[in-house]
Amino acid sequence: MRPETRVVHAGRPPRIPGGPLNPPIVAAAPLHAGVEDDYARDHHPTVAAFEEAVGALEGGTAVAFSSGMAAIEAVLATLVPVGGRVVAPIDCYSGTKALVEEGHAAGRWQLEVVDLADPPGPVDADLVWAESPSNPELRITDLAATASWNPPLAVDSTFATPLRQRPLSLGATVVVHSATKLIAGHSDLLSGVAVTTDPELADRLAHHRTRTGAVPGPFDAYLALRGLRTLAVRLDRAEATAGVLASRLAAHPGVRRVRYPGLSTDPGHDLARRQMDGFGTVVTVEVEGGAEAALEAAGRLELAVHATSLGGVETTVDLRGDVPTEAHVAPGTLRISVGLEHPDDLWADLERALG
Ligand SMILES: *Cc1c(COP(=O)(O)O)cnc(C)c1O
Repeated sequence: MRPETRVVHAGRPPRIPGGPLNPPIVAAAPLHAGVEDDYARDHHPTVAAFEEAVGALEGGTAVAFSSGMAAIEAVLATLVPVGGRVVAPIDCYSGTKALVEEGHAAGRWQLEVVDLADPPGPVDADLVWAESPSNPELRITDLAATASWNPPLAVDSTFATPLRQRPLSLGATVVVHSATKLIAGHSDLLSGVAVTTDPELADRLAHHRTRTGAVPGPFDAYLALRGLRTLAVRLDRAEATAGVLASRLAAHPGVRRVRYPGLSTDPGHDLARRQMDGFGTVVTVEVEGGAEAALEAAGRLELAVHATSLGGVETTVDLRGDVPTEAHVAPGTLRISVGLEHPDDLWADLERALG
């Protein structure tokens, strides 16, 4: 089955006459005794349906969490021994960067930050953390090469989704997603997921989730799976628009620099072409005039929404580089998460906002 078909059919209940087509939202904390997992913190039928679908797409066993950060924390806690060594990329989600930096400051692990899009060579660590394409600069990491370094490799593949990149098939130990973003796709819930081909690691991640209680609720798991069903068509549409906008933005005098792996001039283009099945739905621009000009432009938007987060049906634009974990990001950087609006309407809005 092609991924576009799998995304529609994976994680459905068995085809029993009179049975439901969709997994029911099971609103119950305890389940009747007589089974091993009889409490929703250990196992939940609606959550399991979402896990089955994401696992089928990534090619592994999925463990769902209450947010992307919960999934990331579980991977770090499970794979890095106390006093161990983490290698993390310079450009990655600000929450991930803060988590590894705070763990280092607290003495939980040692941290080495490297540019994985331009790595110095193999590194020694208990865990290498990669994010590709990265948030917000859309840097591309060579995942197969990084996996060949041998330390366990965790890949945050949120921007690629399971339909555009399969890190496990490139040698990654575990792949994580903020399902809050494109997977759920409607900016209406928080969820995360970690997927691995190692059943023992999947058990340890689920055990950590049981201990910390970082489980998604049944309503959110249901909505995340419902959103996932349309991922293929949402991606096709938003990605095509992102390509159009990236080219137009690159030619706009108010824009100093555009990062989008789909542009042939982008430093990550060749690698992204080899490694991904598409270039994603996020375009990052550096506007002329720095942070003040970027904020003013965001304030002039009438259609695109000035807000953080990404991956929803509506286009959102957010100023980046204004937090300590993003000191490497140029002032005036706007991250544009392209939604499903008509490209010409979006362009008219962006052009007006950029002045
Ligand atoms: C948003 C995001 C996260 C964090 O996910 P939450 O669901 O907000 O906890 C992690 N990684 C990336 C790349 C993200 O964009």
